[in-house]
Amino acid sequence: MKDYLQKAYCFNKMVRVYAARTTEACEHARKIHGLWPTSAAALGRTLTVGALMGAMYKSNERLSIRVEGDGPASPIIVEVNGNGDVRGFVKNPEVFMQYNNGKLNVGYAVGSNGFIHVTKDLNLKEPFTSSSNLVTGEIAEDFTYYFAISEQVPSSVGLGVKVDTDNSVIAAGGFILQIMPGCPDEVITRLETILGSLKPASQMIEEGYTPEDMIREITLGDYEILETKEINYFCDCSYDRFRRGIKTLGINEIEKIIKEDHGCETQCHFCHKVYDFSENDLKEIITEIEDEKNV
Ligand SMILES: [Zn+2]
Repeated sequence: MKDYLQKAYCFNKMVRVYAARTTEACEHARKIHGLWPTSAAALGRTLTVGALMGAMYKSNERLSIRVEGDGPASPIIVEVNGNGDVRGFVKNPEVFMQYNNGKLNVGYAVGSNGFIHVTKDLNLKEPFTSSSNLVTGEIAEDFTYYFAISEQVPSSVGLGVKVDTDNSVIAAGGFILQIMPGCPDEVITRLETILGSLKPASQMIEEGYTPEDMIREITLGDYEILETKEINYFCDCSYDRFRRGIKTLGINEIEKIIKEDHGCETQCHFCHKVYDFSENDLKEIITEIEDEKNV
């Protein structure tokens, strides 16, 4: 089954719910980065919340999320666009720490002291960043707080990543519920009651809930699906993009690389693809910079 998300209006359009299944994307990330279980859960939860947030934006808009706690897995970087493409990596892929009950201790891996930074590139002049403090490092609580503080949208975030004994991700997904301005108090009270007795997202994921099952559970059946969108782990890195990156180093720095290493090998953090630049490639870049200066 492919990963996908659904967006729904609920309770007379006063509440929006985004729900997603992200198992394939999280397992792909686990495989390419060689993630140990707690790192897999930390990155998987962040990829999932990223995919859900991406659905709030247009297809050509991009979000870059940086979760920077004081735990060994931090920082976690996730990038998404409004098309449902997600990619990400974690600083330390080899964290495995459990609570006494056997659950993965994501709060330890991420750390509860630090920040979430969300940079939005909405094709305006400059991207802009909103930030908030981490609360527990468990990701869902941290993003609930982020939406309240940085975006002033009362929200509830639920995320779950189930890792098997062979370290593979067998189920992942989550939801974001947001209350629209002007929502009547009785709807809020009703929601609080529902959320108070709602199964944890991790349990819904483990039990194989689809996005629509989650939406039904959260809204007690009072919903209207607006959109269904595929989610894919997709890296759009390219030789040209890395070449532009090298160019920004400037002539002195590039000359130093030529002198010391006679070329350079760059690797994409998101997909591990390697791009080689020979001494000649680097010299061409220098000529280009010089030419542009002389224009
Ligand atoms: Zn890449």
